Amino acid sequence: MPKKIIAVDMDQVLADMEVPFVELFKREYEVEFDDAEAYLVDHPEVDLNMTIRELYPYINTYEFVRNLPVIKNAQMVLKELQEDYIVYIATAAMDIPKTFSAKYEWLEEHFPFIHPQQFVFCGNKEIIQADYLIDDSIRQLKRFNGTGLLFSSSLNQKNTEFIRVNNWEDVREYFQSQKQ
Ligand SMILES: [Mg+2]
Repeated sequence: MPKKIIAVDMDQVLADMEVPFVELFKREYEVEFDDAEAYLVDHPEVDLNMTIRELYPYINTYEFVRNLPVIKNAQMVLKELQEDYIVYIATAAMDIPKTFSAKYEWLEEHFPFIHPQQFVFCGNKEIIQADYLIDDSIRQLKRFNGTGLLFSSSLNQKNTEFIRVNNWEDVREYFQSQKQ
């Protein structure tokens, strides 16, 4: 049987956007706190989506994306999955178009075991013909035709439409359960 294809989102699935975003938020709004969740509870006037739009000019830069930390266990689990599946990285690069080269370099550095021919820089992921898509974006999962796995992030906590994976250990477990 031919191997099935898994497409994997980059931002907030492989690359941690939240930790650097919180640092950026503190710097630009000149605030200090240790616990971002507690800060948001204490400051209900802070609209996260609005803040993301305001800080977008800082996010859509080479420096921000090139220096993103890797999400825990992403490398290990993807390496394992490659034994049984074909893995593509499908990143909505059009959302932050000034970061193409940073994204490419970042993927080459942190995921050297995935061939660059399997990097897909796209916009709308309805074009992705894979069996699975692991993504934190509900919008993208809705457009996707295969099986969507929702990777947990602060912005998608309430969604119950998709199979939820909280971290890469959950991803590994999900695909192990598919083998049986
Ligand atoms: Mg994402």
